[in-house]
Amino acid sequence: MGQKSKKYVYFFGSGKADGRAEMKNLLGGKGANIAEMTNLAIPVPPGFTITTEVCTLYYKNKKRYPKELKKQVDTAMKKVEKIIGRKFGDPDNPLLVSVRSGARSSMPGMMETVLNIGMTTRTIPTLIRKTGNARFVYDAYRRLLMMYSDVVMEKAAGIETQEGEGIRQKLEHAMDRLKVDRGYQSDTDLTVEDLKKLCDKFKVIIKDTLKKEFPDDHEKQLWGGIGAVFQSWMGKRAVSYRKIEKIPEDWGTAVNVQSMVFGNTGYNSATGVAFTRNPATGEDMFYGEWLPNAQGEDVVAGIRTPNPVNKKGKTEDTKHIPSLEESMPKIYKQLYGIQKNLERHYKDMQDIEFTIEDGRLWMLQTRVGKRNGPAAIRMAVEMAKSKLITKEMAVQRIKPEQIDELLHPSVDPDAEKKAVELAKGLPAGPGGAIGKVVFTADDAEAWAKRGEQVILVRNETSPEDVHGMHAAEAILTAKGGMTSHAALVARGWGKCCIVGCSDIKIDISKKEIQVNGRILKEGNWITMNGTKGRVYEGKLKLLPADPEHNKWYKELMKWADQIRTLKVRTNADTPHDSTLARKFGAEGIGLCRTEHMFFGPDRIKAVREMILSDTLEGRKNALLNILPMQKGDFIGIFKAMHGLPVTIRLLDPPLHEFLPHTDDELNELAGEMGVPFEKLKSKNESLHEFNPMLGHRGCRLGVTFPEIYEMQAQAIMEAACELAKKKVKVIPEIMVPLVGHVKELEAIKNVVVSIAERVQRDYKVRVNYTVGTMIELPRACVTSDEIATIADFYSFGTNDLTQTVYGLSRDDSGRFLPYYVENGILKDDPFITIDTKGVGAFMKIAIEQGRKVKKNLKLGICGEHGGDPKSVEFCHKIGLDYVSCSPFRVPIARFAAAQAKLKEKTKKRK
Ligand code: ADP
Ligand code: MG
Ligand code: MG
Repeated sequence: MGQKSKKYVYFFGSGKADGRAEMKNLLGGKGANIAEMTNLAIPVPPGFTITTEVCTLYYKNKKRYPKELKKQVDTAMKKVEKIIGRKFGDPDNPLLVSVRSGARSSMPGMMETVLNIGMTTRTIPTLIRKTGNARFVYDAYRRLLMMYSDVVMEKAAGIETQEGEGIRQKLEHAMDRLKVDRGYQSDTDLTVEDLKKLCDKFKVIIKDTLKKEFPDDHEKQLWGGIGAVFQSWMGKRAVSYRKIEKIPEDWGTAVNVQSMVFGNTGYNSATGVAFTRNPATGEDMFYGEWLPNAQGEDVVAGIRTPNPVNKKGKTEDTKHIPSLEESMPKIYKQLYGIQKNLERHYKDMQDIEFTIEDGRLWMLQTRVGKRNGPAAIRMAVEMAKSKLITKEMAVQRIKPEQIDELLHPSVDPDAEKKAVELAKGLPAGPGGAIGKVVFTADDAEAWAKRGEQVILVRNETSPEDVHGMHAAEAILTAKGGMTSHAALVARGWGKCCIVGCSDIKIDISKKEIQVNGRILKEGNWITMNGTKGRVYEGKLKLLPADPEHNKWYKELMKWADQIRTLKVRTNADTPHDSTLARKFGAEGIGLCRTEHMFFGPDRIKAVREMILSDTLEGRKNALLNILPMQKGDFIGIFKAMHGLPVTIRLLDPPLHEFLPHTDDELNELAGEMGVPFEKLKSKNESLHEFNPMLGHRGCRLGVTFPEIYEMQAQAIMEAACELAKKKVKVIPEIMVPLVGHVKELEAIKNVVVSIAERVQRDYKVRVNYTVGTMIELPRACVTSDEIATIADFYSFGTNDLTQTVYGLSRDDSGRFLPYYVENGILKDDPFITIDTKGVGAFMKIAIEQGRKVKKNLKLGICGEHGGDPKSVEFCHKIGLDYVSCSPFRVPIARFAAAQAKLKEKTKKRK
């Protein structure tokens, strides 16, 4: 005997499974969870899972399977046959199966599933005899023909078709035509004879279109199905979804082969999709949709508008249709128990699929359900409060981007009252959005690329639309329910979305919508309220988010604040921004840029006078005019940040930024200031720099024109002293930019300190001020042992530090950086997420050397990175005291800091 061959096939059935929930990497999410449900004694149709490893090997070996696979599949199939008491392909007693894909993390609708495999001209007569239900058999057969020709014979074969020209649409069209001819309303009106004819017709269309016969052989169907799942892993739609979601290619997908159960045998059968909690609001209620006499995809595809599973889930639109709770109370009770059990077992909201066959309930899938940000927060907090999970787990579970969703805009209710309501639909993704109407995913992408805000309007979306859905501000569909593809995908992204908006009639060929007697054309503005499911004409006002009135959010943030050790400050230059940031939980200002203050219409004149004067005297006079205004600014900011530290950066940009550059502008300015044009022109030329980013700016200005920093130091200290006298607690931190050499800092610190001492003497009050530096040059990092002897604090200016460490101009990087990121040369844009290997190494050197000479050197970061969760984690790891970011990112940074702390704790435990 050779060594035991590798296990490629995992069986599940009759309460016993080879796999379990933890084996997602090998069995995919669907397979692992089916195994887990089987082990929990939940009724699951038996079957087996072919591992993701086979997918990887398949692509490695020129699309060939490992040779042991066939035998292992046969053995597993025999086990299934034994449990069911039917045989796959047996003309006398046939077993039918589904072939289902399932990657590690769920990719809704991305991969393909084929149902009813094993129906052939040999097995069909027996099936009719055994079920006594010819209608059902032909209904199942026409579905197999549709799915198989679409998924296996067309898509997996790599055949590209025009929109609306695919085999599936052709077959659907044939079916619609038959319905119209016969005057039927619904698929369920089709008779046996109709369906039988339709199946024959389908086969002809398939042969004509694809130049191949539909395989009338069970084995061919099975392996065709398996191959198609593996093929679809590299299909266009899957590749595009993986790119957006950053799912690595080498994960592969598993294939699940499972005995069929039928929800379409009659009105004692049904199929449905449900969530253990409401995925749109997070409310703790069993929530779902079902359809009697229907199969699998019907609910998700939005072909018929589905019924609510229970009375509680009914809305204005669905109040008249029976819920499962009312139609099949016993089954509902069993289902209710199973979903409770599943949520308790997985400790998270589950998204489940079920089918009822002749009064018997079967579970087909469970997975952690997608949800939007507000719902995620509510669920996590309520689960922690009911002790299902710990507070720490609640904090770990929320993605920082989900916090961001709460900070998104909504439609102004006042504007909404007055607006023209166009239509109502189901509120699938909350929030407000405005955009121009477009009708195809490609248009959405193209318009968005040229900077337009668009709303993608479709009858229903399919996985082919994902790129356009991503590009759109919001998604509106005429069909489909709360579990439709559009709803699912939008919810995952936290995007505004309305589905099942049956009031709108889309005419794709004319590119227009008819809605209650009105016509909307491509490019017309509409507004959507995704929280209420309302569509309005035109562009309504959107209101900024208001997280302060969300009690679950507040609770969660409280927990996060208790966990984190990293402080969070904000970048703010005005009292307004400071107040806003404080509301968002900022614990100080990490960067107050003073140059913004120089640009105000009332001061730019004085600034220009200062620049133009050739004497120290003249410059000082001009600065004297700016002094009271700067002081006023600082008073406002200090007041807003009462009791919290405020880091003020002394003037940073090169002086030519304050002068206009074209001759016309210079001419105008010359007139205004009463100076000759020539003088302005020559001044402008003398200030010209070849590389302003590395030129006469930052502390280099302060060293050569000390009077500028003197004025600023005086304004800061006078503002501080004046408030200190009024018992306002001020903590100014004066920050010197672009220091590369200790002597620069030393010279400037001397100036600042002597001014500060003088002002304090004059005001007869002491203020707790410090003088530190920004660290944004590699030289500053590696000579940190010298610089730290002078600096009271460091703040890493990681925007410039990234530019200088990388030798990369941010403003010119647009031509190649996006390419780098898209093609995997760089994992992240270094201006968004800190390059921890390179830039991070310099930061570490600066910290290590700095703290060696000054143990309690205060450390922060004020680059854009301070609001990026991954960068915040890095800042926590290297021991910074705080991060600083724009006001709207403050909650995300607070949250990311808590998650970083928890991650560190878990690591230590291991
Ligand atoms: P997806 O990943 O797109 O959800 P699934 O593999 O879950 O695809 O299958 C699509 C639909 O078919 C689902 O509604 C599922 O419940 C149904 N289905 C899959 N396998 C079976 C089966 N063996 N019996 C009955 N319905 C099935
Ligand atoms: Mg699918
Ligand atoms: Mg599914």
